Amino acid sequence: MRLFAAILPPAPAIAELADEVAQLKELPGADRLRWTGPDGWHFTLAFFGEVPVEVLPELEERLARAAHRHPPYELRIADGGRFDDRVVWAGAEGDRETMRKLADSAEAGARRAGVPMADHRPYHPHLTLARNRTDLGLAPFAAGLSHFEGTPWTVGELALVRSHPPVAGVAGNQPRYESVATWPLGH
Ligand code: ATP
Ligand code: MG
Repeated sequence: MRLFAAILPPAPAIAELADEVAQLKELPGADRLRWTGPDGWHFTLAFFGEVPVEVLPELEERLARAAHRHPPYELRIADGGRFDDRVVWAGAEGDRETMRKLADSAEAGARRAGVPMADHRPYHPHLTLARNRTDLGLAPFAAGLSHFEGTPWTVGELALVRSHPPVAGVAGNQPRYESVATWPLGH
């Protein structure tokens, strides 16, 4: 199954961002983008890809430990940007240092559980809002997000999320995400 570890923002933080995104959708060309839905919004900590079911118990054990080793921390959704002209994302402010360490631990734990992990890349927390396969420039969308500052919350858990791939041939269909397990930070 296709799995990743993530931080799932609470409903009020999602609602604030949804209001902001509604404004972005008024910008010229917005309807050419593939927008992600608020239901699935998340900050990926580590992406595991296809994980054999036999590996799941040990992966869960390692992620529980990774969560345990880091304290709850403050986060808010804020600012935003683009990856080239392919992705529009919202950013994160707050205790990014703890977030990065938690991401590193999740990655290291998965590797120890036997999940083949891609080369380590600098962690860049982001919440994907839209994807672009056209020649539309995304600068106005990134600029539209630059003043956004959501209300902070205390991140209290790490989630293991399953990604169900979109059904082939259905235009505009998106993966469906399912939270498999969560573990409290600290404690
Ligand atoms: P789609 O692939 O259909 O565009 P998606 O990227 O949201 O949708 P997944 O590919 O299942 O769905 O990815 C789940 C999460 O993991 C997303 O946040 C995605 O950005 C992230 N992710 C996917 N592949 C990688 C990767 N190789 N490295 C880091 N993060 C990844
Ligand atoms: Mg993907």
